[in-house]
Amino acid sequence: MKTIGHLISGKVTTEGQRSQDVYNPSTGEVLKQVLLASRTTVEEAIASAQAAYPAWRDTPPAKRARVMYRFRELLEQNAAEICRLIGEEHGKIVHDAMGELQRGIENVEYACGAPELLKGEHSKNVGPAIDSWSEFQPLGVVAGITPFNFPAMVPLWMYPMAIACGNTFVLKPSERDPGSTLFIAELLLEAGLPAGVLNVVNGDKEAVDTLLDDPRVQAVSFVGSTPIAEYIYNRASANGKRCQALGGAKNHAIIMPDADMDNAVSALTGAAFGSSGERCMALSVAVAVGDEAADAFIEKMTAQMQGLQVGAFDDRRNDFGPVITRAHQEKVVGYINSAEEQGAEVVVDGRDPKVPGYENGFFVGGTLIDRVTPEMVCYQEEIFGPVLLVVRVNSMQEAMDLIDAHEYGNGTCIFTRDGEAARYFSDNILVGMVGINVPLPVPVSYHSFGGWKRSLFGDLHAYGPDAVRFYTKRKTITQRWPSAGVREGAQFAFPS
Ligand code: NAD
Repeated sequence: MKTIGHLISGKVTTEGQRSQDVYNPSTGEVLKQVLLASRTTVEEAIASAQAAYPAWRDTPPAKRARVMYRFRELLEQNAAEICRLIGEEHGKIVHDAMGELQRGIENVEYACGAPELLKGEHSKNVGPAIDSWSEFQPLGVVAGITPFNFPAMVPLWMYPMAIACGNTFVLKPSERDPGSTLFIAELLLEAGLPAGVLNVVNGDKEAVDTLLDDPRVQAVSFVGSTPIAEYIYNRASANGKRCQALGGAKNHAIIMPDADMDNAVSALTGAAFGSSGERCMALSVAVAVGDEAADAFIEKMTAQMQGLQVGAFDDRRNDFGPVITRAHQEKVVGYINSAEEQGAEVVVDGRDPKVPGYENGFFVGGTLIDRVTPEMVCYQEEIFGPVLLVVRVNSMQEAMDLIDAHEYGNGTCIFTRDGEAARYFSDNILVGMVGINVPLPVPVSYHSFGGWKRSLFGDLHAYGPDAVRFYTKRKTITQRWPSAGVREGAQFAFPS
């Protein structure tokens, strides 16, 4: 059986340590083993990054960017293999994996602009013959800790920009589907990245805690669930590190009475069930304004869902695949059971889907639940499965109050034909990423990604312009070269 190891100082090591099973969620079989790094192994990776830092820091940004250009080409050339690896370990359908990879590639393209992005700010003659400028210096060794649901894209939100800014990096991917992440990291080395600039350690809490406590690590980027995000942020901050920790979500879509209902239903079908709902931007709650809108939405959505195809990752005819583990499948089914027990109405029931030939896969079918109320557990918690809840309200303000009261504030959207209502919504809602008739308002790579409230701990969002700030430190330099006209005696006060 294949073992997935660590990438340290440019070499993949697979020598004996603790390990864990990696499943093919479509079949339910164990596919590979992944090593779980010990403290010593992680310290070795940090030491490797630390040793590579001085030379990489002094490598001209244009040369660092050239490595990213080559990396981009290699990602495109190897796309089929990357998507196969994502599919067999994560379960997402090949075309969805391709979309994920494309979003990752766009972040590499942004990093290719590093020389432009790092130009800094310059002011001439801030005083007599005095010039002043701000430059953005790298931090040193930076760590990234990533979730299972985007094993290619989320790491690519982090290290291309961190490395293009002159840092060196230690990545700790999800231990549940690490294959594509390691494969992609090896491509960056093939693109010409010096050994030690990017290191990958697979592992669990022991590896993460080592990264959080080691004084050589200057900053930590995290993406995952909210309880872990909060833990990471608190521990990294207590240790004096810069930290951005992106957490979970419960994304609501408001369906206004004047919405184009066919459009809303199609858009929500993809946004709720795509990737089995295992997206932090998945739209998992439809808030219908008025019973008429709710009834029309339920009727059309029920009809649309009859055509949903759940199945194995490698059949392009499927709309979505299995969830990540058996335990997660049981958890999602548990949320549907609890909704029913608490008085909601399961309109389309995906608890026992039939997938011929894949009887042991971790499948949950598309599920639609009506008459959900805010007290229900299924409403309060992130389900992270192909389950769409419908909450009925009487006004847009009631819908907005509901969204604002929820602990998460990652993404949201409104379906309406009323520009004034849409503008009021986007101006006032307490959520970081807002769509207007756009169900998944994921920012493109030259904007930045992040939620509000308990969906993000820290100040700066992921990728895009915020990443340049996160992965660099501002230094402001002021200079004067004394010459005949500007020589002065001692000054005891600020010039006025
Ligand atoms: P997770 O929090 O279980 O794991 C994320 C990472 O943290 C993994 O690398 C894991 O090994 C590590 N980890 C887990 N438990 C730990 C512990 N006790 N101590 C230290 N490290 C630990 O998340 P997941 O299940 O892999 O991913 C799904 C979650 O990620 C969902 O909540 C989803 O909303 C969220 N997510 C958020 C975004 C975003 O941008 N906000 C993007 C993708 C996923």
